[in-house]
Amino acid sequence: MSNINLDNDDYRNHLYNQSKDGKRLWIYPGRIIGKLYQLRSAFAYILLIALFGLPWLERKGEPIFLFNIIERKFIFWGVPFFPQDFHLVAIGLVTFLIFISLFTVIFGRIWCGWACPQTIFMEMFFRKIEYLIEGDDKAQRRLDESPWNLEKILKKGAKHLIFLFISFAISNTFLMYMVGKREWLKLINEPPIDHLSGFLAIWIFTGVFYFVFARFREMVCIVVCPYGRLQGVLLDNNSILVQYDHKRGEPRGKMTKNDTSEKGDCIDCHWCVRVCPTGIDIRNGSNQLECIGCTACIDACNEVMEKVKKPKNLIRYDSLNGINTGNKLKFSKRIMAYSALLVILLSVFGYLLLSRKPWESTLLRTPGMTFQVDEIKQEVSNLYQLEILNKSLENQNFKIEVEKPFYIVWVGKPISNLEKSKMSKSEFFIKVKTGVHKNHDKIKLKITNADGETEFLKTSFIQPDE
Ligand code: SF4
Ligand code: SF4
Repeated sequence: MSNINLDNDDYRNHLYNQSKDGKRLWIYPGRIIGKLYQLRSAFAYILLIALFGLPWLERKGEPIFLFNIIERKFIFWGVPFFPQDFHLVAIGLVTFLIFISLFTVIFGRIWCGWACPQTIFMEMFFRKIEYLIEGDDKAQRRLDESPWNLEKILKKGAKHLIFLFISFAISNTFLMYMVGKREWLKLINEPPIDHLSGFLAIWIFTGVFYFVFARFREMVCIVVCPYGRLQGVLLDNNSILVQYDHKRGEPRGKMTKNDTSEKGDCIDCHWCVRVCPTGIDIRNGSNQLECIGCTACIDACNEVMEKVKKPKNLIRYDSLNGINTGNKLKFSKRIMAYSALLVILLSVFGYLLLSRKPWESTLLRTPGMTFQVDEIKQEVSNLYQLEILNKSLENQNFKIEVEKPFYIVWVGKPISNLEKSKMSKSEFFIKVKTGVHKNHDKIKLKITNADGETEFLKTSFIQPDE
């Protein structure tokens, strides 16, 4: 239930959860358990199980997912990525951004309502606990307005303690994604002084999550979230959003006996407004900034329509054009074109991922040096530096060869066996008999691993002009 007076169109001049003088108005959304809510709950539980379960899974001794920004180590679906894979990350991000943009153009804010962690945690954890302890929207308001007494202290205390505990659990899970299960286990089993930064991070994250879910709530979607801010430019009249069918619903009006005036199907019960977690009235129009597409108003209105024996879906997923023309949703050319573009982008990204080598190598002729001539052996040599990064989760053996008639003489230990995720750097001479090779012609170095995968590196070899 919102604190906002909806009897005029003042809503256009300020946010729904703000008074005219800019003060925050607390929203008490009504409790609604409809079909879509149940579907959303089931989907959310699957995502929550994945979110809390994935950090416990490992592949070859490494986490399935790791986003260690400090050590610049990233693992995605068991595939490690390094700063050397920046091009892949950049292409991946661009693909993701285009995917999100196109997805939003077609399907509106489905992400916000169904999959966004903010909505899932808020609606599936924190809100449910609030209903359980404090009761429905009316009871919550009564409790807030009542003077402090034992009941209020106990209810508020229990609620905030549970909120803090869940925030702590979320914080720990996020940390597991950042440092991995093994480091996290060390962190919680060993004295905090040995892991001061990790220990502080857990409590800072806990504080942030607690503040977001206990106090800040819908402000994240309305004020902070950049994706929410993008909606205004991404959506158009063909985007599929949670919409009120104004053609069918208007003119709205209460159902009264002996009233013979022409009325639409909306009985102006405000139930859809009461259940809205951002406090808005969906009947004020399509694509409202605060609407997160949570579908609560669809469930609420369907419940009302059932009671007054009118067809359901006065509020439904539809496009504004669909509502205005009465045409049903169809797989339009626009959707087909966007989908095709997405498939192409995802295919390119997938190809780049699959064709990615399990190592990364860099070959440089040692800077500042030209060539060395051995008059006795009648040989000329150039000094090179070779770096190999093992990008796989297994140790790898490498064989390094140069095309004949050149040969390699290592300076120190040659690169052969390389531990997983480790980089090795070594220097060597490439030598050849004088007069065999033309100055400035390229030569090829071949790197082969134990699986027979090869890479050819080209470099220049210089020698005195004849
Ligand atoms: S719940 Fe349905 S009938 Fe009631 S005010 Fe909202 S749109 Fe109208
Ligand atoms: S208007 Fe409906 S879909 Fe949008 S946030 Fe409110 S309840 Fe959810």
